Amino acid sequence: MADIHDYPIILASHNPGKLEEFRRLFAQGNIPLVLDDYGGQEIIEETGDSYRANAELKARTVAERSGHWALADDSGVEVDALGGLPGIHSARFVSQDSWENNREILLRLLEVPWDHRTARMRAVLCLASPDGLVFFSEGVVEGRILTWPRGQGGFGVDPIFSIDGETSFAEWPQEYKDRVSHRGMAVQGIIPVIQQVMAL
Ligand code: IMP
Repeated sequence: MADIHDYPIILASHNPGKLEEFRRLFAQGNIPLVLDDYGGQEIIEETGDSYRANAELKARTVAERSGHWALADDSGVEVDALGGLPGIHSARFVSQDSWENNREILLRLLEVPWDHRTARMRAVLCLASPDGLVFFSEGVVEGRILTWPRGQGGFGVDPIFSIDGETSFAEWPQEYKDRVSHRGMAVQGIIPVIQQVMAL
């Protein structure tokens, strides 16, 4: 059995924006984490019908293939006026290009008044061992979809997502977003789990 004491945890993602956030978020946790686009050649199909199922699929696959503990994130934005879309389909809503996806969200919300532009970003993290143990942590941040993109930072829906009703996450210093974000919250939840598993 692979032992968490001997091996680092692989955090696998093909999304450079996410990897960058995880690099910062885990920086202080003293967690033996290797960030990787592990299997970069081979995309893991997200065939699950929930964030949890997709995060588990990604983490289990990487853990089984590598023989190391693996951490994976599945996340998305849920727009209330669109019945929760794009949700788990956020990365490939109408395209694999986030600007095209954001444009589509803005177009669909064109006539939706401010009060009804509520949305949330959700992230589910799954930690999987090579022999099949799994642990989960979830984070949510509530906000609204702006009427126009703002800011140059971040990734994905950051330019159109706002928690203060004015500025977008793409305008915020990264460490501010980390403090309130769905991913920041999910990481805070999984760190004690990793520490407990390591102490066993
Ligand atoms: P996943 O890689 O299948 O988990 O899809 C994640 C998608 O959700 C991204 O491509 C973005 O569209 C959206 N998303 C999730 N988290 C964030 C975030 O922190 N900022 C911006 N967009 C996000």
